[in-house]
This record gives sequence, C-alpha cells and structure tokens, in this order.
Amino acid sequence: MSYLNETHDPSLQSWVVSANVSDNGFPIQNLPFGVFRPQGSTQDFRPGVAIGNQILDLAALARAQPFSGPAAEALDACQGNTLNGLMSLGQAHWSSLRLALSRALRQGSPLQATLEPLLSGTDQAELGLPAHIGDYTDFYTSVHHAIAVGKQFRPDNPLLPNYKWVPIGYHGRSSSINVSGQPFPRPVGQTRPATEGGTPGFGPCQRLDYELELGVFVGQGNTQGERIALDDADAHVFGLCILNDWSARDLQAWEYQPLGPFLAKNFASTISPWIVTLEALAPFRCSFERNADDPQPLPYLSSATNQASGAFDIGLQVFLTTQQSRAECVEPALLSASNFKEAYWNIAQLLAHHTVNGCNLQAGDLLGTGTMSGPEKGQEGSLLELNQGGKQTVKLPWGEERIFLQDHDEVTLRAACRKPGYPTISLGQVAGMVLPARV
Ligand code: MN
Repeated sequence: MSYLNETHDPSLQSWVVSANVSDNGFPIQNLPFGVFRPQGSTQDFRPGVAIGNQILDLAALARAQPFSGPAAEALDACQGNTLNGLMSLGQAHWSSLRLALSRALRQGSPLQATLEPLLSGTDQAELGLPAHIGDYTDFYTSVHHAIAVGKQFRPDNPLLPNYKWVPIGYHGRSSSINVSGQPFPRPVGQTRPATEGGTPGFGPCQRLDYELELGVFVGQGNTQGERIALDDADAHVFGLCILNDWSARDLQAWEYQPLGPFLAKNFASTISPWIVTLEALAPFRCSFERNADDPQPLPYLSSATNQASGAFDIGLQVFLTTQQSRAECVEPALLSASNFKEAYWNIAQLLAHHTVNGCNLQAGDLLGTGTMSGPEKGQEGSLLELNQGGKQTVKLPWGEERIFLQDHDEVTLRAACRKPGYPTISLGQVAGMVLPARV
C-alpha cells in the first residue's frame, strides 16, 4: 500500500520563497494546520496553514472560494476559531484540501495572486490552541521509559506483566491543556509522609518534571459501541503535535495508588501550535516490529499493514534554559534526544485499543503517546530518568546543576522528521516556563 502522492514529491517548490530554504521545516510538503491571530489583537483565532515563515489565512481564503468539490467543503469548514469542523469531515476531505493547497502554493500556480494577500509572517502572529479538546487520554507507549521508571519503584520487577499486552493509559484532563508559550505556577499539593503512617507533607511540588511526548489529534470519531478496526485507525487521525506532560513526581508518588495519576498531571499540559497531518508524515512511516522474545500483539492490535508501516520516524529533543542561562545569553542545553519509532505501541494500535470496548472518540480528542525514551543514555524523555530517581544531578553547560525543575526554568521540546533526499518536516516546538508556586 502506498501512502504517497504528488504532494510528497520532494522536488516541489513554492512561490513562498522561505518555504524553499533548506531545513526550514515548513516546506510545501508539510502544510501543518493551526489557528492564529495578529499579535496583540483581541480578534478571534482563525485557521491557518504554515508555509515557510508565513501563515496562509484559511478563513479568508474560504471567502475567496478558490476550490471546488471536497477541497472547497473542507476549506468552508475552516471559518470557526478551531479546527474541529475540518477534523470532523474525515480523511478524504483533509486529503483533498492538502492537494488543493499544495497546487495553489506551488511555483507557477495561477492562484498566487489570490493567496499572496492572505499571507502574514509567523513572527507577527499569536498561535492558539488548535482545537477544542473534548477528552484527553495519556498513554505509556515507551517500554524504555516504563522499565527505567519501574526499576526505581520495583528493582526486581520493573515491567508489570500487562505492559506487553495492553497499551496502558489513563484519562487525563483537557481543561488545563494550553498552547506553547503559556507559563504556569508550580503546583502545590500533598506528598508522602516522611515516616510511614505519619501526616503527609503539603506545599509546593519539589520534584517538578517534564515529559517528552507527542500528541495525536483524533479527526473523525466513532459511534459509541462501535470500535475502530486497526487498519481503519489511521484514517481517524488528523495529525500530530508535540506534548509536554508536566508532572509533579512527589505528588504522583503519594497519590497514584490505587487509581493512577491525578493532580500530579492535570495542573498543566502544553502542546505545540501546529498539527502536522498524518498524510504529511507518510514519507516517514516505518515498519513496526516486535523483538522475537516479546509476545506478538493480540489479533485486534496486529495486521500486516500495521507491521509494514505502522510506526513513524520522528526525532524528538528536549532543551532547557534557566534564569541564569538567559541572563548570560547562553545557548539552551540539549538534555536528551529520542525517536518515536522506538515506541512499543503505535498510533493505530492506540485508537484500536481505546475503542475496542465501544468507547467513542470525538473530533478534537487528544491522545498522548507517553514519555518517549529510547534504550540508550542520552535518550531519557524525563528528568526522573536523567536524574535516576532524584539521585543524580544533571550538569548544565553553563555550570548550574538540576535534579528537578526550578522556578523560571523553561523547557522546550522540538520534533522533526529528517531523511536524505526529502525536505525536513518539522512539528515545530513547544515551550513552557515554571513560575513560582502561589501559596
Ligand atoms: Mn505522560
């Protein structure tokens, strides 16, 4: 099965000059969707597509009615202040719109004069939360993360027996998901008593962490009671963003049993503003293989198509700056780098599993992949792993040290797909800063 079409031709060039600059991340082969408004304005956010260092205003383009058929229907759905309308139309519509935009933005397009006045610089825009997120589920798909964290709690039995059979997840909270750039105060809460049976501690979190994740935006959902089959699952996915699932480890350690994460996770989660469609990521699909000594997934989580192309090669990075490093104008510290292709469960499996019991997903729902750690040193997707459970300090290039995050630390996650002979497809970045606790 080929996922590629003319929009993936690596030789395509745009009349938007900045889109043709090598490694700019937003070439005509990408075309990610988001919502934006002029910086400093109080206008409603409106849908746009990123091209080079510009944003094409899709709401204004819809009024010009340049397209016909499904592409026109899809563009018509881009007139609200979120992408939910477009997301709910389904894959055929997304694909038609992508093709029409690709043709309109190519060098020599007769639509250049129509589109050119509808562009504005990304650096002049405020980017908003791209969708109304009805529900948020966070998974735990990195076996390397699960083992590293499990070792800290259960040295003899790091991986629980369900892990290799069930994509583990929990229902999170969508109200506290914000878009890149929004600062949040350090959470306050209860922590484990110093002595067993004693009174718990209470106060600002002392073990604040980030989690390097991808977010999966559901497009067309499913009717309650009807499941999404594995090989249909990709058609229900609108696209991917980057997700920082901020975590209060000391709150988590005290509260997580028996029902799982709660206040340690729901004070803030931050996503990148651009959603890169699954279609744009098609050139970076790769095979999904299980080690010979691991059990094969149950039949509802396994298919020839999924094994051939169910994974995605997406490079992920974590950067940190501190009050001191910014004052000294030092480059951000690269804390770690990993890749989504290392995940133990893939996107289609997450949707198939989430709906196998009849649970209905809806357009705009967000699924987190879980912390993406790789097998090697330097591939840890959280501080909890870098500091080996709080035992090891992390040395920063400018001389400071960290165990967990301090106030005014800023974490930036980046993600991009790179391979020889194809333009870089960037997911952009998500940044967030820890502010002092409100006590
Ligand atoms: Mn998480």
